[in-house]
Amino acid sequence: MPYSLSSLPYSYGALEPYIDTLTMEIHHTKHHQGYVTNLNKALENHPSLQKKSLEELLQNVEALPEKIQIAVRNHGGGHYNHSLFWKVMTPKSIQKPKGLVEEQIVKKFDTFNAFKDKFSTTAKTVFGSGWTWLCLDKNSDLIITSTPNQDSPVMQGLQPILGLDIWEHAYYLNYQNRRPDYIEAWWHVINWEQVEENYRKLL
Ligand code: MN
Repeated sequence: MPYSLSSLPYSYGALEPYIDTLTMEIHHTKHHQGYVTNLNKALENHPSLQKKSLEELLQNVEALPEKIQIAVRNHGGGHYNHSLFWKVMTPKSIQKPKGLVEEQIVKKFDTFNAFKDKFSTTAKTVFGSGWTWLCLDKNSDLIITSTPNQDSPVMQGLQPILGLDIWEHAYYLNYQNRRPDYIEAWWHVINWEQVEENYRKLL
């Protein structure tokens, strides 16, 4: 099996009270595990594709055998997106960006608060299930964008450095229909040091 579920870098309860223990546990052991299992299933009869990186598969979904395109898009995207999501959260958040990311955010959005508002508004207004992202585009400019379902920004040639899962499974147990409250809470647990590292790796 080419893909497996990694443990979280913190305990399921570590992000309380912002994200509750049971949500984290189900999200990781059921939802994320499901994407991994189904991605492996899609690739099981394609040994040559098992050797490619997940980024490569997602960047070229349309070149894959037609039968597995949807599965790789949904479950490969799901695995990629969640792997990033867990890493950009921490119980020890420094609350604000630092270093080059801070510099680039201010350059692009004027202030951190203006960036935060724009990102949150984008996340609040996604219809149905999806993600909101801070990415680098092809010119290495920061952009805020959303993707539906488990589509990954990587499919569009973007490089995500921060992402927020806005599927109901990410918040419904604790926040029910109150997606804006979940989004607001999430800002308390962002791992800005990891975001900075993600950014520097792309330079
Ligand atoms: Mn999710």
